[in-house]
Amino acid sequence: MTDFVGQIALDGPSGTGKSSVARAVATRLGAAYLDTGAMYRAATVAVLDAGVAPQDGEAVAAVVAGALIEVGTHAHTELVQVDGVDVAVRIRSAEVTRAVSAVSAVPSVRRRLVDQQRALVAAADAVVVEGRDIGTVVLPDATLKVYLTAAPEARAQRRALQLGITDPVEVAELAADLRRRDAYDSNRADSPLRPAEDAVVVDSTHLDREGVVDRVVELALTTVGVGR
Ligand code: C5P
Repeated sequence: MTDFVGQIALDGPSGTGKSSVARAVATRLGAAYLDTGAMYRAATVAVLDAGVAPQDGEAVAAVVAGALIEVGTHAHTELVQVDGVDVAVRIRSAEVTRAVSAVSAVPSVRRRLVDQQRALVAAADAVVVEGRDIGTVVLPDATLKVYLTAAPEARAQRRALQLGITDPVEVAELAADLRRRDAYDSNRADSPLRPAEDAVVVDSTHLDREGVVDRVVELALTTVGVGR
């Protein structure tokens, strides 16, 4: 436990180890943790359950406007609910992963979830928030902004290891899926994935998780957010 007070925005593409780094940093700093990707994934569950096509922006907006999406802010207990139903496992399914980029590109979905994200952040003295647009849009005045990146091959390998996949064809499919999501997230009109101008870019290609966590914690403790 440390005296860190403030907000750490941790952005970057998928497969950089961002989630496990964010959770570990939150734990080391005794901070709350918010996984904004889980919120977009929960919105996607609502869309799929409503039988709406993820590409149908208007219908997606209507479904998400009527859904109650709740997430916890604790690094080690994943709480994700849609209309009171636990979807913590379902949000990680391939079906949701395939559809989430289209849902998260809908501007009214983003506005709604960003408002919710800011309210959750405001309730915490110290918080680590992970996503794609935290430093650029959600928390432009965050105490520390980190943009985590890694070479695409390293990201696909890491994802494969997490999922227990060893077949080279499946690893190549994973890499293709990562590239497809990155392209979608980086090219959308609303809040594209990109580093904030004042973000510290950390390349994790040649660093293990602990190395990245050490670096982010060190940055946090040397930034203004220490003490009150
Ligand atoms: O981080 P995760 O892979 O769970 O995010 C799933 C998807 O949610 C991303 O591919 C992106 O389309 C969307 N997302 C977003 N903005 C965020 C977090 C996630 O658009 N802040």
